[in-house]
Amino acid sequence: MPRVANPLTKVRKRLEPCCFGPANFKNLPKDKDKASDPDKHLKLYRKAVPIQREIVPKVDEALDLACERLGLDRETVHGFVESDPSMNAYCQTNIRGNAVVCVNSGVVERLTMNELAYIFGHELGHYILPMRKKHVILKNGAVRPASMEDAVEHRKLEISMDRFGLVACQDLQVACSAAIKVASGLGSAEITSDVIAFTKEAVKGYVRDYTEYEDEAYSSHPAAYARIRSLYHFSQSEDYLAIIGRKGGRPHSDVDAEVQKDLEATLDYFAGRLMSDAIARFSHFFAALHVDQEGSKAELSRHIVSRQPVLDAEMVVGLVGQIKKIPAEHKEKATFSQFDDILNMALDRCPRAMNAHLEELLPRLHGTKVAALTESFAKVFRKEYDGRGF
Ligand SMILES: [Zn+2]
Repeated sequence: MPRVANPLTKVRKRLEPCCFGPANFKNLPKDKDKASDPDKHLKLYRKAVPIQREIVPKVDEALDLACERLGLDRETVHGFVESDPSMNAYCQTNIRGNAVVCVNSGVVERLTMNELAYIFGHELGHYILPMRKKHVILKNGAVRPASMEDAVEHRKLEISMDRFGLVACQDLQVACSAAIKVASGLGSAEITSDVIAFTKEAVKGYVRDYTEYEDEAYSSHPAAYARIRSLYHFSQSEDYLAIIGRKGGRPHSDVDAEVQKDLEATLDYFAGRLMSDAIARFSHFFAALHVDQEGSKAELSRHIVSRQPVLDAEMVVGLVGQIKKIPAEHKEKATFSQFDDILNMALDRCPRAMNAHLEELLPRLHGTKVAALTESFAKVFRKEYDGRGF
């Protein structure tokens, strides 16, 4: 049988510069485009309204436009409007072979045709660049990235998706006003698209007390502020201008560096500090256990490794004092309870960094009185790490 060319290969080649960071076509799994469950979305024909010119003309025009500008065959794209006032749209990334995108009625009512093309461009981006992202389902049913490390990666993926959106609408102002409408839930009658006024105020939310922002550090999407700035940077790039047939623009690496700076000044800043805190908590606790076991013979320099370049001596002394106060018969239980807290914090926040930290630390603690204890912590950690599929 003759080999049929993958229609996405050409699309990806042209849109390669839209990819930001590790969210790129080189990192896709080999079977990424193998058709799977092509009928899985048929229930949408029963419970939602299929997008077609006769019944939802504005939405259909927007989807046509997005497909054309991204280079996708509209016949392979199945779009639906769902009855839901919330400002949401999604792509069913588990369906391959056809692209299945859904947009809520709330979005349709508030956005113009071109703004909808931006939204469809973003969602179709998830079909073109189907990165598999690890998630966990929380006790309350909410879904979030499997760790803060995963959340940081996920946010980079969403930046790439916004760039697909910009290619689909080809107008920075339109892309930004769509983003502000989605963030505010307002339609054209109530809101202007004064992006500068919006970003000037929105940046006030990024105060430096990172410990208050643990929930947000797990967010799968960057904040509207960072997304809008990132769209602006990309709109100035030589890559984007070339895609829309214009010359000039800023080099790719300069633009990506600006975007990275904005991400690091917003949610990634909170995430970075909270992840460092998890490693620091582990390091100081084990250093304190070391002092408790070996007294002044404990060489604390052994605990200094790349992810923990300094130890706060005062903190170690304070922890040693707390450990010494625990009656001998309760010490093991108390130590294991601390173990548990640290373990869970590291797995939730920075499993990969903690894994690398342990790799580096374990050989340095050989021959000390905490070697066995650290080994047993590492064993439990790795079991959970593998179990959760990191
Ligand atoms: Zn998205």
